Amino acid sequence: MNPYARTIPIVPAVHEKDGAFEMLTTRKDELIGWARKFSIFPYPFVTACCAMEFMAVSASPYDTDRFGAALPRFSPRQADLLMVVGTVTHKQAPILLKVYEQMCEPKWVMAFGACATSGGFYQNYAAVAGIDRMIPVDVYIPGCPPRPEMVIDGIMQLQDQIARGSHPILGARF
Ligand code: SF4
Repeated sequence: MNPYARTIPIVPAVHEKDGAFEMLTTRKDELIGWARKFSIFPYPFVTACCAMEFMAVSASPYDTDRFGAALPRFSPRQADLLMVVGTVTHKQAPILLKVYEQMCEPKWVMAFGACATSGGFYQNYAAVAGIDRMIPVDVYIPGCPPRPEMVIDGIMQLQDQIARGSHPILGARF
């Protein structure tokens, strides 16, 4: 037997995450999070007087294009941010739910103004006391109506959430 011969152990492939792979996954999440946070496509579900403020935010003085969020989509299948702007009544609630369900993942929801957040000053049987009774909300914008600066602050907070999130788009290994 050759004393210099070396046996090379055959190690079965291990499919667990190691340090390098963890780093790769983390960097991938950062990269996708960065891309997603600057390519928000809002679907405005606009029902009431907060609409004026939505128009103000969308106008050139506030320039939401800086955040990659200037282009509203009027099909839920092409949008990833549902902006619920104004009062939602119980009659409208099933329509809002259908719009939310038609949006693809990942998707986010913004409650724009006091009515969408909590029902506002409507203490009656017709208004829904906050859209979070039906759908999950990622960011709440207070105010009746909210100032455009508050909406922009909400968009920036949502961007932070998106950037910090996990983005599993390529399966378990990547
Ligand atoms: S929050 Fe105020 S401005 Fe906005 S929809 Fe309700 S009542 Fe109108």
